[in-house]
Amino acid sequence: MSRSASRHAIIIGGGASGVLLAYQLLHHPACDFHVTLIEKRPDIGRGLAYHSGNLEHLLNVRVANMSALPDQPDHFWRWLTSRGADTLLCPDPYCFVPRRIYGDYIASLLGPLTSNAGASPRLSIVQGSCVSVSERPTDVVAMLDDGRRYVGDIVVLATGHDTRSSSPGYLDPWVSPASAGIANDDAVLILGTGLTMVDYVLSLLADGHRGPIIGMSRRGLLAKAHRRADPVRIEEREVPFGVDISRLLRWIRGRVDTHVAQGGDWRSVIDGIRPYTQRLWRELPPASKRRFLEHARAWWDVHRHRMAPEVEARIAHALYAGHLTLVAGKIIGIEPNEAGASVRYRPRGQREIRSLEVGAIVDCTGIVKDPRASANPAVRSLFDQGLARVDPLCIGIETSADCAIINRDGVPSRRLFAVGPLTRAAFWEIIAIPDIRTQCAALAAMLATNDEEQQFERFGAQSP
Ligand SMILES: Cc1cc2nc3c(=O)[nH]c(=O)nc-3n(C[C@H](O)[C@H](O)[C@H](O)COP(=O)(O)OP(=O)(O)OC[C@H]3O[C@@H](n4cnc5c(N)ncnc54)[C@H](O)[C@@H]3O)c2cc1C
Repeated sequence: MSRSASRHAIIIGGGASGVLLAYQLLHHPACDFHVTLIEKRPDIGRGLAYHSGNLEHLLNVRVANMSALPDQPDHFWRWLTSRGADTLLCPDPYCFVPRRIYGDYIASLLGPLTSNAGASPRLSIVQGSCVSVSERPTDVVAMLDDGRRYVGDIVVLATGHDTRSSSPGYLDPWVSPASAGIANDDAVLILGTGLTMVDYVLSLLADGHRGPIIGMSRRGLLAKAHRRADPVRIEEREVPFGVDISRLLRWIRGRVDTHVAQGGDWRSVIDGIRPYTQRLWRELPPASKRRFLEHARAWWDVHRHRMAPEVEARIAHALYAGHLTLVAGKIIGIEPNEAGASVRYRPRGQREIRSLEVGAIVDCTGIVKDPRASANPAVRSLFDQGLARVDPLCIGIETSADCAIINRDGVPSRRLFAVGPLTRAAFWEIIAIPDIRTQCAALAAMLATNDEEQQFERFGAQSP
């Protein structure tokens, strides 16, 4: 099919990544795609991150860095300030607004194309759950659970975070404490001490929870908070690409120490490295990637994925008041009982086993990282047919540098693509909006300028 004929892109997942990609495909001047966006939730643009109705669940990235459009860095700030009421929440672009508002912003990107007056014939939004994706020589097919079937030229998986269903006895962190039936005086054990735990503690506090809250993880590390610190300028030639992880971490620590010794903030260095993290990951030797995931990732995550200062203040207060306790330890056993559960754990670095009586256990250990454990039928269907394979580190599906999904035999597809967190094996730093927006713009540009013949050449395949 040549560029002159309209092509059909089916995007599975209408969270932030799916919407950003749809926007780019519909606005690229050289793009002729008809876009079908399939989302199982009632709203588009929210996904897991931006559906929270709790107004204390703030963005983890300041407004200034949350534009959906890489070529308009102040787009989100302008959108926000155009809505008078939100300016009170956010006096300047360094602030952090409720994630719910950000979901409104993302949804608004496609608003003009779906309104009665300006509905675009090039965009169809479908509410439904995709259960399988298949590739044929001349097209792709996406099947929904109710039997609806969509045939297109390409499919892009934007299925995002894969939440696992909690083990029996553990509460789901995405269900509010009140809906989960947690009594205000219950002792609550939260497994995991990352940003999902932080959200859950805020939800408990908002519900007036009085009982003790215990956050437990292997290291018991808590995310650091943002400060008003600008990134330092680091030249690409200064960055030690391709070295092993020990040398890389030594280099980062050295930069941080020097900057702090000069009166700077360590955050400026971490943020200064940000433009290079995808390349650093790509060029990290495989053994180093593994060592990073096992030993340094928790450390990196708490410095890199920070919480808003307002959130830090709430958490610090709960810690100071003894309402929240963080424990570094490993669960040894959990015995359910009438009051909840009896939990045995071993504190980090100790032999002695301790026990805790709790009324509820919440699983905030995070989002499924091993795609083999995916509960998502669309992703599973690709594995089942050999159309996708898991990367050697088991953190994502394998994709090429231009987001093509790589099949069981190592061949990148010319019709199946993926964006967002699903592609973390190739990009690593592809969880947050500043990275996803660039990825979506780049993929749209590639698809726009590559007609099908060129795509064949690109992948060295034979045109049918
Ligand atoms: C709690 C939380 C807070 C975050 N806060 C920030 C932040 O402040 N700033 C930031 O930059 N990043 C933040 N992130 C990172 C986040 O990954 C990205 O910002 C972004 O939301 C990722 O969007 P996504 O569309 O790729 O994934 P998701 O948000 O997971 O959306 C995927 C969508 O696909 C749909 N879907 C999945 N499978 C199917 C299927 N088979 N059929 C139909 N629909 C399907 C889902 O219903 C969902 O709506 C946060 C993440 C989380 C989890």
